Amino acid sequence: MPAFPAAAGRALADTQLRRNLAHATRTIRNKRAAVVGELPDWEELREAGRAVKERTLRHLDTYLLQLEERVTAAGGRVHWARDAEEAGRIVVDLVRETGEQEVVKVKSMTTQEIGLNEALAAAGIAAYETDLAELIVQLGDDLPSHILVPAIHRNRAEIREIFLRNMAAYGVPAPDGLTDDPAALAAAARTHLREKFLRAKVGVSGANFLVAETGTAVVVESEGNGRMCLTLPETLISVVGIEKVVPTWRDLEVYLQLLPRSSTGERMNPYTSTWTGTAAGDGPRVFHLVLLDAGRTGVLADRIGRQALNCIRCSACLNVCPVYERVGGHAYGSVYPGPIGAILGPQLRGTASETERALPYASTLCGACYDVCPVKIDIPEVLVHLRARVVEGSSGRRKALERLAMGAAGWVFAAPSRLAAAQRAGSAAGRLLARRGRIGRMPGPLSAWTDARDVPAPPKESFRAWWDRTRPGSGGRGSIGPIGPIGPIGPIGPIGPETPPGGRGPRTGGDR
Ligand code: SF4
Repeated sequence: MPAFPAAAGRALADTQLRRNLAHATRTIRNKRAAVVGELPDWEELREAGRAVKERTLRHLDTYLLQLEERVTAAGGRVHWARDAEEAGRIVVDLVRETGEQEVVKVKSMTTQEIGLNEALAAAGIAAYETDLAELIVQLGDDLPSHILVPAIHRNRAEIREIFLRNMAAYGVPAPDGLTDDPAALAAAARTHLREKFLRAKVGVSGANFLVAETGTAVVVESEGNGRMCLTLPETLISVVGIEKVVPTWRDLEVYLQLLPRSSTGERMNPYTSTWTGTAAGDGPRVFHLVLLDAGRTGVLADRIGRQALNCIRCSACLNVCPVYERVGGHAYGSVYPGPIGAILGPQLRGTASETERALPYASTLCGACYDVCPVKIDIPEVLVHLRARVVEGSSGRRKALERLAMGAAGWVFAAPSRLAAAQRAGSAAGRLLARRGRIGRMPGPLSAWTDARDVPAPPKESFRAWWDRTRPGSGGRGSIGPIGPIGPIGPIGPIGPETPPGGRGPRTGGDR
């Protein structure tokens, strides 16, 4: 994939894509706003969601060991994977042990992150996606573009075409005369998938949460395909990031309220599946839990960046992001698109590649993502933090240039007379470049700004000059006078009552 700026430029030129995205994100946004508005304690719930995640991450080692012990005691087997490659190898070996050559899959971001389908295919094992949107992506030989709705970039007519063209190659074909009516499309997918569910001996899933106190895995979903994959096969393999653990069922309760409202705009998920190891006569006879690190412990070590591990993959930040809404998920070149992808990708995979280095800049920093995040991840804060890391890690020449530019700016801003002179010079240059009130192209590195937008021509008179002209004697020559040093602030004594004994009245400026 090209890096974000080039990919975004291409996506912006696709009007059909923008129409599909605008319609879909607006619908989910409105549904979310309605159900969130029903809860008077939504902010308290968000705060609880944040607090539980932060406490869990502080003691992650303890909870993971407790989880391993409980899963093992309940008849499951726990495997630890350091990276994507190791996780893929573990899953391939486990499937080979069963003697099977195909698996059915529950929708899982983690298995996409590690490229599990590709690892299985390389070992001659077919992986069938069973979530409707993932099925559309797989049949269309496409890439997912949204965390919750991976085929959000497709409309009904496109889906019908994909079904008619490719379903037969994967199993039961689409019926003749298939229309683009949603019910007809869903019926075609149901018939196609049912045959897979009834045949499969191995299921592969992720998990939304892992409850440490009982060793329970939890998957929430809307279609029921997950329930089929989790209960029908004889062997179940779940690949889960280590950050998905929550200490207790009381903690889980918080997320089961936050997640459906934030993701699908529902009060609760239609299907919430939980399983603890194995149970005789009920569900899979063999259960493997693969716990994945793949860069997560590195993220945990970063005081600001670690909040990205709080993410419960609701996708609310994607649906409100003005950048995502216009360019869609593919432009991010990452399994995790949108605002969360822009902070998670560069942290999990590092900033060595151009794709990862561009992601922290794929944002206007408007803060809409933070406002809706159910676990209060301050995405703009992490983006700025990562931008600093990108600059620090950039080439010596780029860093030197940036340092030079910042030094020059510091020199100008340090004296009001220099700032006024710079403003006059900038304004005169701007007026020279302007045509019909707009500057279409700025010179040198400033052209990066005008590549995608115009700049309004500067006014003839600056605010500073206007102030001087309209308020003669207010300081002269646009100067607000140099600001003198602020003297040292003395120790702040104990804060007593507002009206101290002796009746001096409320504290004023003199009572520091
Ligand atoms: S960052 Fe927050 S809003 Fe975005 S997907 Fe994660 S939990 Fe949801």
